[in-house]
Amino acid sequence: MSDLAADVLATIRDVPDFPEPGILFKDITPVLADPALFPRVLDWMAAQFADAKIDRIVGIEARGFLFAPGLVDRLGAGFVPLRKPGKLPHATVGRDYTLEYGQARIEMHKDAIKKGDRVLIVDDLLATGGTMRAAIDIVRECGGEVVGCAFLIELGFMHGRDTMDAPIHSLVRY
Ligand code: AMP
Repeated sequence: MSDLAADVLATIRDVPDFPEPGILFKDITPVLADPALFPRVLDWMAAQFADAKIDRIVGIEARGFLFAPGLVDRLGAGFVPLRKPGKLPHATVGRDYTLEYGQARIEMHKDAIKKGDRVLIVDDLLATGGTMRAAIDIVRECGGEVVGCAFLIELGFMHGRDTMDAPIHSLVRY
């Protein structure tokens, strides 16, 4: 394990039974609050795609928004928000998907990705992969090429990675 991964693992806070009984929530706010650690995380994410000629960085609401804009300067690519339903003002493309409990939907502006754009999609945590699969479908429907998906945390025991047909990068795994 890298020094960075060890530092992040030591900083993440486990919160039992949030937001529901039985869920062990990985609270990343102590990582964000550490002025030395958070930039190292962003540097690591950017380094995975340094030579990938990324055009657009798609962040998934809400916690993907905490990372994706920090990569804009580092990768020289624009930020695109993937949002919860009804939030975006212009014409959208969206997908419904299944969460561990219940249903959800994400949407993106139709014109945010152009045919042939090279796209990186970012979220904080990979669990079942349902959220990221919906994001990948949306980007591809708009003609984007999903060059990679980046996460701070991967819950490997949920096997989300096995259900994805795009390259997955995660810094720490449980
Ligand atoms: P999934 O679609 O199952 O891969 O779930 C990923 C989404 O749910 C991410 O946006 C995470 O922020 C959130 N999530 C799922 N499980 C957890 C967890 N144990 N701790 C924190 N966030 C979680």
